[in-house]
Amino acid sequence: MEFNTIIEPFRIHSVAPLRMTTQEDREKYIQEAGYNLFSLHSDNVLIDLLTDSGTGAMSRNQWAAIQHGDESYAGSPSWIIFRDAVQNLFPFKHVIPTHQGRAAEKILFTALGGKGKCIPNNTHFDTTRANVEYSGAEAFDFVIAEGRDAANLHPFKGNMDLVALEKFILEKGVQNIPVVMMTITNNSGGGQPVSLENLHAVSDLCKKYGLPLFLDACRFAENAWFIREREAGQQDRDVVDIIREIAGLADGMTMSAKKDPLGNIGGWLAMNDDALAGICRNLLILTEGFPTYGGLAGRDLEALAVGLTEIVSHDYLKYRIQSTAYLGNALSEGGVPVVLPIGGHAVYIDARALLPHIPALQYPGQALAVELYKMGGIRGCEIGTVMFGRKPDGTEVPAAMELVRLAIPRRTYTQSHIDYVIEVCMAVKESASELRGYRIVQEPAALRHFTSTFEPI
Ligand SMILES: *Cc1c(COP(=O)(O)O)cnc(C)c1O
Repeated sequence: MEFNTIIEPFRIHSVAPLRMTTQEDREKYIQEAGYNLFSLHSDNVLIDLLTDSGTGAMSRNQWAAIQHGDESYAGSPSWIIFRDAVQNLFPFKHVIPTHQGRAAEKILFTALGGKGKCIPNNTHFDTTRANVEYSGAEAFDFVIAEGRDAANLHPFKGNMDLVALEKFILEKGVQNIPVVMMTITNNSGGGQPVSLENLHAVSDLCKKYGLPLFLDACRFAENAWFIREREAGQQDRDVVDIIREIAGLADGMTMSAKKDPLGNIGGWLAMNDDALAGICRNLLILTEGFPTYGGLAGRDLEALAVGLTEIVSHDYLKYRIQSTAYLGNALSEGGVPVVLPIGGHAVYIDARALLPHIPALQYPGQALAVELYKMGGIRGCEIGTVMFGRKPDGTEVPAAMELVRLAIPRRTYTQSHIDYVIEVCMAVKESASELRGYRIVQEPAALRHFTSTFEPI
């Protein structure tokens, strides 16, 4: 018999307390934080859905592996274990460990970017775009049109628009495109997956023009699970098999090990090209560390090697994708507008649809995120005009969408925590018409969402 309850495929082994606060406390904390959720002390947050990056729980086997960490400067056995675990899934010739995904991006785009270069992606994640642009190159997004429509139910909304990509290649010229990137799942586009068929087609197109294809593979296991669930002919495959097929289509990858590899820190860069690997290793030594540890301690390498074996468990992935959908579908059925279908690691609430009376330049996403905190101690992340509204020339324009992302840390919260989140969201929905917008009191020159302060209008 199949039962409907989604049980967590683990039991609790070590606990961290949550501190209960009252609404009155929280109104004071958020005011003191200048109504910026990034400025809160996290022990004043009850359910922290700010990000799924490095915030998950490690398993007892990962904690045990930490005790095996060998901190030798060069040639540590922990490095060999880590490298083999990466190559087991992604058989690239060269693996270069870094302390985070963005460090891998910095090295790759220092090697490949620069003025006049153009780098296409389905959707660049914000650190990827920033590192491309910092090198002097330009970043371009070619996700399919369905991927930009919050309500469209396309099963692979992270897919690349192949016609647009080919047109771009012809327009810019192969000599100006050092690499084609593909982000799986598409984080900035709502955590939406890319199909195997689309990955094959992008790979074929890259081969046709002699361009290298690199994966930004932070959520590769969630993406592979969506392929197994949704793509014709994939239902009986092991996800490991699907992951290796995806790796075989690419020439390299950048990775944040704070996502699917179940680590609290870490990342890597991998590739087949010997010459490029040589350049990247030299940059690694300059900025991160010796090539057998990169930016990491031996114990981190050990924990990640174990994480890479746990993330491909079908029991885990089934729970992960179903439990995220449990939250998203409950909100949707309760009348809270969300991006559909529900992605892998987060639920995105459409604040523009929920708060139509708040104009974009009064930040409906910020208003909603603050209210979720005040009402229930839940911390989400505004992904809208606060994050994207200020242009480099100083003007302010509304973002394409006003979203609040509720990211789900891996193996961290139980179904009762999520039931509570649903209840709080419903209460916020009931009082939506009374919410007011915000104005910015102080803002920095760049990446303003992290440090701006606000006041209610
Ligand atoms: C998190 C993330 C990165 C950057 O990784 P960090 O470890 O945070 O530096 C890059 N790309 C995607 C798609 C991500 O989700």
